[in-house]
Amino acid sequence: MTSSLNAAFPDRTTTAPAVAVAAHQLIKHFGELEVLKGVSLEVAEGTVTSIIGASGSGKSTLLRCMNLLERPDQGELTIADEAIRFTRNPEGDITGLDRQQLQRLRAKVTMVFQQFNLWPHLTVLGNVIEAPMRVKGLSRRRATALGEHYLERVGMADRRDAYPAFLSGGQQQRVAIARALAMEPRLLLFDEPTSALDPERVNEVLGVIRGLADEGRTMLLVTHEMHFAREVSDQLVYLDQGLIAASGTPEAVFEDPRCSQFVAPAA
Ligand code: ADP
Ligand code: MG
Repeated sequence: MTSSLNAAFPDRTTTAPAVAVAAHQLIKHFGELEVLKGVSLEVAEGTVTSIIGASGSGKSTLLRCMNLLERPDQGELTIADEAIRFTRNPEGDITGLDRQQLQRLRAKVTMVFQQFNLWPHLTVLGNVIEAPMRVKGLSRRRATALGEHYLERVGMADRRDAYPAFLSGGQQQRVAIARALAMEPRLLLFDEPTSALDPERVNEVLGVIRGLADEGRTMLLVTHEMHFAREVSDQLVYLDQGLIAASGTPEAVFEDPRCSQFVAPAA
């Protein structure tokens, strides 16, 4: 991994980039089903990691654990230098974290969902400024300035007053990306961001994500777009039945015979 990072960031050859978010030996069950069986993963500041793997292998669950939408049963999560250790707790609450801490940590790791998940009753701008105001306590004026900036960034500034129902899927997803960016997180998560889109809308969203990669955003994405993953990722992780079966540079993982079913051109 080091050599690929050095190749991508030649100015960083002397000091390894800081880790934005790290998971250590995460275990997650749903009832009897063990979905994550001890997953460890580090995303370095300014790098892009892509997760590939079959449907049901635990990719979404891993992402949801990384921003505490799901509570891991065991393991450790480090978000921006703050470590949280999970132990089984029959009460079901996240051990040692109160609501405020949870909100604060979640604000550092924001997610873009497959189905966009915009609030239908809020305008485009309303969607983008809601969390900065409610979670970070920004004034409406500050949040609006920030929101306009990020809507501009995804090419949606001219639709700021539209409601989601009047937008195409690609436009909704770009708004969802602006919403995630407006929290100015340490890590951006994308869970199959183009899977729900019409084919002709895929590229406009991939283009935005590629632009974010180029400007050095720290991102972790689940995708079935193999060419895209290979192009933008510093690190590729192949998840198989709740375990990381292979990880490393895209080149190394794509050559790994265990991943052949995912990376064959016809797949
Ligand atoms: P992927 O994103 O790789 O398709 P998921 O993380 O969504 O996989 O799911 C992994 C497994 O966990 C699947 O068998 C799925 O049915 C199960 N699962 C996911 N979420 C839940 C849930 N909330 N309750 C019960 N089972 C779940
Ligand atoms: Mg999924």
